[in-house]
Amino acid sequence: MEELLQQVDLYKKEIENFIGENGDTAEAFRIKFLGTKGIVKNLMQEMKNVPSEKKKEAGLLLNDLKQTAELKYETLKQQSTSNNQQSNMNVDYTLPGDEINIGTRHPLSLVRNRIVSIFNRLGFTLAEGPEIEDDWHNFTSMNMPENHPARDMQDTFYVHQNPDWLLRTHTSSVQARVMEKQKPPIRIICPGRVYRNETISARAHCFFHQVEGLYVDENVSFADLKQTLYFFVQEMFGKDVRIRFRPSYFPFTEPSAEMDISCLICGGSGCNVCKHTGWVEILGSGMVHPNVLKNFDIDPEVYTGFAFGMGIERICQLKYRVNDLRLYSQNDVRFLKQFAGVVPLV
Ligand SMILES: [Zn+2]
Repeated sequence: MEELLQQVDLYKKEIENFIGENGDTAEAFRIKFLGTKGIVKNLMQEMKNVPSEKKKEAGLLLNDLKQTAELKYETLKQQSTSNNQQSNMNVDYTLPGDEINIGTRHPLSLVRNRIVSIFNRLGFTLAEGPEIEDDWHNFTSMNMPENHPARDMQDTFYVHQNPDWLLRTHTSSVQARVMEKQKPPIRIICPGRVYRNETISARAHCFFHQVEGLYVDENVSFADLKQTLYFFVQEMFGKDVRIRFRPSYFPFTEPSAEMDISCLICGGSGCNVCKHTGWVEILGSGMVHPNVLKNFDIDPEVYTGFAFGMGIERICQLKYRVNDLRLYSQNDVRFLKQFAGVVPLV
């Protein structure tokens, strides 16, 4: 009983000295003293240990404590409302407002939109697909069966629970999904994020962005491919740019070719950027391999097609001279703000 008396005395003092500043402290006070697990409730529970002849005295004492706490809580609440009103009255409406910073479009979005818009004008429609893919859409259907050596160049990240699921290594998987559902003519452009298991450096990253295109119809030829891509680079880099094709190998196209454009810095005479060759590589392309068409029940005797793929970062690098891949994902506003003046094409 003595102990209880002392405790109640101490709490009373604490209540008297409690200084409230805003609504939050009033609420903190309520929880501490009057909440369901608060001090007053706790002490009430102690009543069962008090001998019966002292119960009345103890009850009065606790009731008094409860009332003191409730009174204090009301005062704190009132104080916080009047404080709020006070602070509202202190606002000087004649001061200039805080500056609102308007963001800029990310350089990769600018370039992506521009690429998509150029191909839209040629009749290519936008197609998108999932970033988590299965083996069939990413590799096997693209003429890269299990154990195909070309898979080594596209190591990626696999989903632990299901080894058949992976993060797509190219947006060819979107082409696969479109060919699955749609019959020729097919004319699509597929932009998106892709992944590779690579060490991050200025020239490589574990993810980057691609745009791939696919055109399948009767009588589609390599000449169509060449003319389409020539139109694209002229729209992207200017009318003076020249192109050249070099034979290459991709499992999903036959024949395959890499396309170079004349160096934008030196115009072809040779500089550091083009390693003194006058040419810079920008994309891979080729005629769709008959096996790929067969995988989607498209008769390669009737239909032919071309496909191409480019890295958006690569195009951005050539257009805006960004030499470090890591800058794109570091979210450094000093970098991002430099693109504020680019007029976005939608
Ligand atoms: Zn050059």
